[in-house]
Amino acid sequence: MNQSATARSWVEHANGHRDFPLQNLPLGIFSHQGQGKRCGVAIGDAILDLEGALVAGLFDGHARVAVEATRGGALNAFFALGRSARVALRERLLELLGEHSEHQAVLKPLLLDSAECQLHLPAQIGDYTDFYVGIEHAKNVGKLFRPDNPLLPNYKYVPIGYHGRASTIRPSGTDVRRPKGQTLPAGQTEPSFGPCARLDYELELGIWIGQGNEMGESIPVAEAAEHIAGFCLLNDWSARDIQAWEYQPLGPFLSKSFISTVSPWVVTAEALAPFRCAQPARPEGDPQPLSYLLDSHDQATGAFDIELEVLLLTERMREQNLPAHRLTLSNTSSMYWTVAQMVAHHSVNGCQLQPGDLFGSGTLSGALPGQFGSLLEITQGGKEPVQLASGEVRKFLEDGDEVILRARCVRDGVASIGFGECRGTIVPAR
Ligand code: CA
Repeated sequence: MNQSATARSWVEHANGHRDFPLQNLPLGIFSHQGQGKRCGVAIGDAILDLEGALVAGLFDGHARVAVEATRGGALNAFFALGRSARVALRERLLELLGEHSEHQAVLKPLLLDSAECQLHLPAQIGDYTDFYVGIEHAKNVGKLFRPDNPLLPNYKYVPIGYHGRASTIRPSGTDVRRPKGQTLPAGQTEPSFGPCARLDYELELGIWIGQGNEMGESIPVAEAAEHIAGFCLLNDWSARDIQAWEYQPLGPFLSKSFISTVSPWVVTAEALAPFRCAQPARPEGDPQPLSYLLDSHDQATGAFDIELEVLLLTERMREQNLPAHRLTLSNTSSMYWTVAQMVAHHSVNGCQLQPGDLFGSGTLSGALPGQFGSLLEITQGGKEPVQLASGEVRKFLEDGDEVILRARCVRDGVASIGFGECRGTIVPAR
């Protein structure tokens, strides 16, 4: 496949595009000017209407089967087809949108300005699971609560996770209503009820499940990558004060389920292939993964080098035309477990995964200041406020604040790609 940095598209604004050059070709569900939901491919600042291209007769064979499965306003059926269908579609799209395409005249009217389109969730999400594989986040947060023993003893054996809430996952751009709930004010013994006062973001990689498994069967780690359809950014908004009061003994509940935001484009495993890397070696003294989680190919190629960024834009910063403030710059290299290990572990007990299920990686922080993937870590639980150019300070998010997640893949000799944005603005509690 043509992933080289020099491959160009006849869609001029795609060449050198920050997120969506020819080498990316992520899929999403969009609507244009009030029309129904349909599948599109991001190319530069445009969206190619795949259904229009199908009707125009531009696909046959496996690629046609793949595009037919993208109809109906959700990609679940397409995800279920697995890798071969994705690859057939990608190869055809590289021909159609490549600079030597013979079909430019037919395709031009099928390219819609992204700014005129609304993006939706790419799939109907049956189940959402949030992992906790960002080891630096686990250590940073653990240190706040247990300075001498930040990591619990299971962490290096078990890809820790919990079942999240699928019904309140929304695409980028959806407002985030400040949740209300029970909190235990400092020094009190009985809780209060009211708006969350410690609202936070969590920077995560989202993982879209492709082909599932039958209940009672498990997905071997060596095959697990085949069950992943693609990736997105995920903001696992968190109400820290509600969380602190409710989380023991069963884990987060209402502190996380009010909304989670995803970037709407599904960046495929094929587009990310050049940015795979070896899983970092475990520190001396750490246990090896149990055999059901260990595969040599996965260890050699199962990690990713994806730069992750969080930006904050307050209302006052918008009024003053100030640029967004970078809160976080981290990388997927802080994942203690690979995505294949997450899939293998999730299904090892016979739990059924289905096409369109969503995983969150867990917050992906680095070890150093500037790399922390949540305000909880950046402000040390609210003790060290962030100073902004507007003269404001932030311990946690305030109404009107907008949080923007971005991802970028960069490697010599390969065209850089991005994920598009994952945005959300806090609106007051009701
Ligand atoms: Ca999380």
